[in-house]
Amino acid sequence: MPLLADVAVPVPLSQAFTYEVPAALAAEVRPGARVLCEFHRRKLLGVVLAVSERSTAIDPSRIKPLSALVDARPALPAELLSFLQELAAYYFAPIGEVLRLALPAIEREQVRALKAQGELDGVLDLGRAKQVGGRKVAYARATDAIEEPGTLRGQAAALLALLRANGEQPVARLEERHGNARSALKKLAERGLVVLEEREPPRDPFFRLAEARDVPPELNAAQAEAAARIDAALAAAAAPGGGEPRAGAPHEPRHAGPSAFLLFGVTGSGKTEVYLRAIKSCLDRGRGALVMVPEIALTPQLVARFRARFGDELAVLHSGLSDADRHAMWSSLHGGKVRVAIGARSALFAPVPDLGLILVDEEHDGSFKQEEGVRYHARDMALLRAHRAGAVCVLGSATPSIESVALVRRGKLTELRLPDRAHREATLPEVTIVDLRRFGAGPSGDPLISLPLHRALEQTLAAKEQAILFLNRRGFAPSVVCGSCGTLTTCEACSVALTYHRGRRRDAPAPGGAAPGAGGPGAASSPAGAPAAGLVDERPQGGRLRCHYCDYAGPLPDRCGACGSRTLLLEGLGTERLEATIAASFPEARVARLDRDVAGKDRSQAILARMREGKIDILVGTQMVTKGHDLPNVTLVGVVNADAALGLPDFRAAERGFQLLVQVAGRAGRRDRPGRVLIQTRNPEHPAIAFAAAHDVPGFLDREIRDREEVGYPPATRLALLRIDAVDEGVGRGAAAKLAAHARTCPEGLARRVEVLGPSAAPIARLRGRYRFRVLLRARERGPLRGTLASLAGLLRDGLDRNARVIIDVDPVAML
Ligand code: ADP
Ligand code: ZN
Ligand code: ZN
Repeated sequence: MPLLADVAVPVPLSQAFTYEVPAALAAEVRPGARVLCEFHRRKLLGVVLAVSERSTAIDPSRIKPLSALVDARPALPAELLSFLQELAAYYFAPIGEVLRLALPAIEREQVRALKAQGELDGVLDLGRAKQVGGRKVAYARATDAIEEPGTLRGQAAALLALLRANGEQPVARLEERHGNARSALKKLAERGLVVLEEREPPRDPFFRLAEARDVPPELNAAQAEAAARIDAALAAAAAPGGGEPRAGAPHEPRHAGPSAFLLFGVTGSGKTEVYLRAIKSCLDRGRGALVMVPEIALTPQLVARFRARFGDELAVLHSGLSDADRHAMWSSLHGGKVRVAIGARSALFAPVPDLGLILVDEEHDGSFKQEEGVRYHARDMALLRAHRAGAVCVLGSATPSIESVALVRRGKLTELRLPDRAHREATLPEVTIVDLRRFGAGPSGDPLISLPLHRALEQTLAAKEQAILFLNRRGFAPSVVCGSCGTLTTCEACSVALTYHRGRRRDAPAPGGAAPGAGGPGAASSPAGAPAAGLVDERPQGGRLRCHYCDYAGPLPDRCGACGSRTLLLEGLGTERLEATIAASFPEARVARLDRDVAGKDRSQAILARMREGKIDILVGTQMVTKGHDLPNVTLVGVVNADAALGLPDFRAAERGFQLLVQVAGRAGRRDRPGRVLIQTRNPEHPAIAFAAAHDVPGFLDREIRDREEVGYPPATRLALLRIDAVDEGVGRGAAAKLAAHARTCPEGLARRVEVLGPSAAPIARLRGRYRFRVLLRARERGPLRGTLASLAGLLRDGLDRNARVIIDVDPVAML
């Protein structure tokens, strides 16, 4: 019988293809290894899923041999490979594309070898696999050997002490401080006290500065209890090397009971310290650990806390890495040199050796859901990967997702609570709701800077403390409306309003201390009744209209496109205008802004560093100010417009609004000085606002779960969203109708085990020039939902107009 390999190739097809393993490669071709194989007369880079000796129904003359083996050691370890296959099945995603998420770059040496064999002629797609190759750097590390007392002096003694205290260091870095480090290290190496090693360096900015080791603080009672429970689970965790699918429903994530936790700790309660202890006990048991955080939370400050505890034997994975650095991180994990990985969503696929622990910090964060390509949820998949690997999983949050709370109630997650802030003096801030229907504008004239907010800012400045103002609208004015006919200026490619951005202009505010546009003589309220309208009597300079959904940016038009009137009103308040207005109202204060427009990764770190150093008095910003920053001197947080997020047509709008409020409020009063929070709203009774003001997270969760049950949304039900779009409206609508009709007549649809909602236009009906439609599938159980999706496969493959694009989104998050 021939030796056959199932190979996944990077094409959008779900199945693997069969190839024969040539005798010369029989000993080396293993699952997880990359191979070159012929596919429709081109060569593709594929991944071996399985190898077996068997007969097949396929005509043997049609089975081609594999062309070449790329990886001597499989690029994907068995545990990761089988997890990826299950992920692909769960999301109905093509296996080739799922594998691509986890595959490393190709090393130049591998490319050279293939070239030498003449294998790279006619190869398709190798270009998409990035190529890296290597410069190596020397590292020094102290061994466990002990020197004879008194035999070391001077630099040698100093270097050894330093290596023992701080762990491994690049030799070049040691030379900066000790001129003769190289020769001293050589001598230490000869005596077996130090090991010198060459390898590819991480040149990542997170490792630019040396980090001194810290002394772990004593845990408080709640932390100690949580750490002990996790430790016990680690001790009990299944033997390493698991990863074979266990019995049970083949495609249901099987969340383990006692080895998956929800760490529910208020903001500032010391969750990170619990993570550090958990990692330590995992490493002590000889297993590796993976830490996932939202991209925005992956700051040098956070990484420094991990480096201070575990040294530089840490792989940091994020979107800003160069290909070479990413590969260096990947190979240090893959080779087992480094056992801890920390990163954003895509770190889910890190080849952590002998995975024993996965931590997901801020597990409620929306950024864990990938919204393009393979639409996976990294939190859900972390539970799956951990379970399959026999690893412990800890989800942490101050505002747990409704999904995770539901898992606690169903006994699939064990809850651990940290009810108090870790710094003994720190208490949760006092929250005041400012009802904007009752309070008008303060001295700034802008109705969104109410008198109470203005006074609170004054008091904070007087006390030499800091304030954060949160507003989740970027730009200067979120909409431009015609003063004559009320027409809203929208993007040509998308059905959304264009935002006016003033850009980098910092000239003097308008006379009277008000910012330009704030309540000028012609101010009028918009047709929609939004506050803060301003007349553009003088054309603002240098400003642009931008679409926040596509890349459009263009000048502010001269006149209304509908009626020709020259009166265009800049309506509403964005962070740019807020910054200008605050700067004008508080001329003595140092005001800065943090949002996506001012901040690349480095800039935002610089702004936060200035905030921490007390060089900023008032920081204005979007979501970026709400995430995890520990800023001890912030005593006032103002939520400028709490209603902005709550009105979206999305069943998670209340949950998300609530999380934002609690998180941003959590920035206040993190140390000895008490904090306070002002929430401005026109809707003070909204549960998200009322519960946030009362710091009642469990109360909100209870109510929200009940609400979801009533309206039949997750976690009470399971959803799959079919997203259909097309340049031509009719084509999109037609495809959506066909899909909905088919879903209604498949067995699950007929038996009403799956409810088919739609087709309907998406809330954002047009995006980047494409009309968007959707069909929502809803079921109590996952099985029927999967059945329906499976029965749509044929239609999706070749039953629809080719100009319509259809995406299956299982467990959708973005509903717009
Ligand atoms: P969280 O991640 O829950 O928001 P952090 O881990 O950032 O909280 O902790 C908040 C602050 O409390 C940090 O400054 C941290 O160093 C400190 N901290 C945490 N645990 C302890 C402890 N057991 N004793 C003293 N300080 C602690
Ligand atoms: Zn008009
Ligand atoms: Zn657009």
